[in-house]
Order: sequence, then structure tokens, then C-alpha cells
Amino acid sequence: MLFVQTRGVDKDKKEKVTFSEAILDPIASFGGLYSPESLPKLDEEFFKNHLNSSYKELALDILERFDVDIDKDVLQKAVDLYDNFDDKNNPVPVVKVKEDLYVSELYHGPTRAFKDMALQPFGVVLSSIAKKRDEKYLILAATSGDTGPAALETFKNKPNVKVACMYPDGGTSDVQRLQMVTEDADNLKVIGIKGVFDDAQTALKRLLASERFKTALKEKGTKLSAANSVNFGRIIFQIIYHIHSYLELVRQKAITLGEKVYLNVPSGNFGNALGGYYAWKMGLYVKKIIISSNKNNILTQLIKEGRYDLRNNKVVPTTSPAMDILKSSNVERVLFDLFGEERTKELMNSLEENKYYELTEDELTKLQEYFDADWCSDEEGKEFIKETFEKYNYIIDPHTATCFKSYQTCANDATKSIIYSTAEWTKFSPVIANALTGEIDTHDIDALKSISKTANLSIPPMIQELFEKEITQKTIIEKEKIEEEILKFI
Ligand SMILES: *Cc1c(COP(=O)(O)O)cnc(C)c1O
Repeated sequence: MLFVQTRGVDKDKKEKVTFSEAILDPIASFGGLYSPESLPKLDEEFFKNHLNSSYKELALDILERFDVDIDKDVLQKAVDLYDNFDDKNNPVPVVKVKEDLYVSELYHGPTRAFKDMALQPFGVVLSSIAKKRDEKYLILAATSGDTGPAALETFKNKPNVKVACMYPDGGTSDVQRLQMVTEDADNLKVIGIKGVFDDAQTALKRLLASERFKTALKEKGTKLSAANSVNFGRIIFQIIYHIHSYLELVRQKAITLGEKVYLNVPSGNFGNALGGYYAWKMGLYVKKIIISSNKNNILTQLIKEGRYDLRNNKVVPTTSPAMDILKSSNVERVLFDLFGEERTKELMNSLEENKYYELTEDELTKLQEYFDADWCSDEEGKEFIKETFEKYNYIIDPHTATCFKSYQTCANDATKSIIYSTAEWTKFSPVIANALTGEIDTHDIDALKSISKTANLSIPPMIQELFEKEITQKTIIEKEKIEEEILKFI
């Protein structure tokens, strides 16, 4: 399987690249992305055969059908990491909340957010490519809270890879910060930045584009890559759980094989939703993918009205910070798939130059064949958290809560819904404790204890331990000092 480019081909770039190449250098011609040239087709036989498979067997079969240039034993090692999830026999439990509503819990990995689903196996794949090529890589990550811990966890002590992870000091929850600053492997560097997430993100983009920085790294025999969510090496692992979740509904006799469902995804950079879209294109039985947002509702506007308008929009902080995004990078791959490279280049250029693009009526109709969308305010989200606990004795986090709004507004027929839950309650406990009891906690530890008592849930050991671990990563610097600090680390 080869990968083509969403904005066409620049003259000094190869026309198509392998999976490894797309992973190591994920930015394609004209600032575009790599997309699979074609998708493997899954027929009814495939789904039937996998009704009795484990998650790992399903995952390996799908990965092999993509026919990527990665050795089978590496793929096996990658999916073996799902054994570290809470239940090794079912890393992604799908839970019935009520008659037509099921929640697929994507957060049972080591860092308690759905980023582990892709980053855990991705770490094995990337470091094995680096080792095979006998090359050393510096992976940069900028995080608002969930990607950082997951990236550090997956690359910890891996050969040929070092990670520099930047986070906004004071801009994450206690749990998220502790997950990063207590990591003590020699190949990891965590840098707190005096600023907000955008400052970390901008610093990362500047370093990725800086020839001076790359030259300085080269002198130390190191190449540069990034673990951000446009990397297809992450997307490929996000196709699998959509297919798994569907099969779970069949196994639970909620649906019969072939019956269509709604996939409802709390969306930011659109990686999760894109995985669902590819799964559908490969043959999964989907009625519609519902895109849920918070007040940063640019995706709702795109899908409802066909306009992507950044002109008067600024990111507003919400209680679901992992979705506080306006430039949703993976949407580009859907545009490419539906409208082709020329039109995608035109639309993305317009977005960069005019901060705006608009689809034609025909294009919007086509987009709406696949997607519907709605957004949810923080206040509404808190109500859903409270109501879901009181009525169904089920705790959801503020990201997942946004789906409960769109479930009401976009899925009001008999079709079953799968809502994707992207974070455990332990990662956003002050908001949840506030929703449940009205209390205002400034520290996660108090909120964790309160929820644990109210909902009779135990705090998982990897979260509990954080509060006793030694803080090893103490660097907090001005954003101007980042480059110097990273070079010192290398
Ligand atoms: C990253 C993240 C999201 C958004 O996922 P995308 O794939 O970027 O759309 C939603 N919820 C949580 C908790 C996340 O960490």
C-alpha cells in the first residue's frame, strides 16, 4: 500500500511514499498530508469471521490488509501493547447505557485517555523503523494535556528515539501535569512553557520548519519527527476500534450483522472521526458519523452550512480542553477523499490565505451523506454528566458529554448509537465533581476522592501513584529558550 498527497505533488517530492516514509516525514507537498492510495475492502464474510476474534486478532488482520512495509513481528509487538490495558481480553469495553445508546470506552490504557489507543502501538512501529534504518530520531510533541503523557509513555526507554514534550505550565490538570513531570527515563525531556497551549504548538511548528534547528540536530546524528495526530501511523490504529465496537454490538445482540449504526465522536483534530470514516469506506455498516464539539464549534458550522470560517473565531477555553481546536487538521483527508487533490489544495490555500473557505452546494450535500454535527456548551455538558450518573449510574467525562447533546439532536430515530468515550473520569475530575455535587475543587486529588465516594468508583493505581511519585522533570522556561533547551538535551 502506498500513500498519495492531499494537495498534489511538488516537483521535488516523490509522487507516492511507503507507510514508513509517511510516518517519518508526515508533511506532504504544499503542506498537505499523506492519505492511503486505496482502502482494503471488508466484506460480510470478514465481519462474520471476526465475531469470535479477540481485539488483537482483529487488529492484526486489518493491519495486514493495509499491506504496509512493516514486518509482521513488529505489528504483533505493537498490538501486544493492548495487553497492558485493564482487561487484556477486551481492551475496549462497549457498555450499554440505555436502550439505543452504547458507549465505547477508549480510555483503558496506561494514561487513561484515548490517545493510548493509537500512540501505544505507534511507539513500537516508529522506533522499529528507526532502528531498522539505523537512524536516531527526536520526536517533538506539544500537548494541551492528553497527547503528552501518552507520547512519553509509549517512547519511554525505546531505542533510537528521544522525545521532547512541551506543555503550557498551569494550562493542564494536575493529573495530566504529574503524568508528564514524574517520567524519569533518560530519553524523555518534558518542558513546561510560560504561556498557553498555542505557544507550545507554535514553538513546535517553528522547530519542525527550522533549517537551523535541523542542521544542529544533524550534527548530533539526529533526525526530526513529530507525533501529532495527522501522522497516518496513528490514524491506522484508529480504524480498528470502530470495527471492534460494531462487532461488540452484534455480540451483545443489540444489532444484527449488517444493521447500520451511528458513530458519535467527540472531535478536535478529527483523527478519531477520520478512523470511523475510513472504517465505513472499507465496508462497516454506518448510518452517519456524528461530530460532537464544544463551544469551539467550527466543525458544526462546516457540516451544517459548508463554511469553514476562522475570520472572527478565537479559541475559547472550555471544560473539554482536548477539543479546544479550530484548525482541525484531519478534515483535509476527508476533503481529499471526497473532492480530490486539486479542490483540496484550493480549499486549504483559501483557509491559509483568507482564513475561510466555502463548499459548493453539491459538495455540502456529499459531506452530509457521511456526517452530521452539533455542539454542546459547558453548562449543558455538566447537566449531561449529572443526569447520566443519576439516571444510569454511569460517569462520563466532559468530552464524552458533548456527544450526549448531539445524540439527542442528530440521532432521534430507532438506529443504535455508539458514543466514543475519550477520557476516564480521573483525568478531568474537578469538572465532574462540580457537575455531580456542585463543589468547587482547585486540586484534582480532592475531586478524585469526592467522585470516588459519590459514584463508588475506585481511583486506578496509576493515577493514585502520581501523587506520591518524585517530580523529575523540573524545566519551566520562557518560550524563547525552547530550542536551546532541546539542543542541550540532545
Ligand atoms: C484528543 C482528544 C479528543 C479529540 O480527538 P481528535 O481525534 O483530535 O478529534 C477528544 N477527547 C479527548 C479526551 C482527547 O484527548
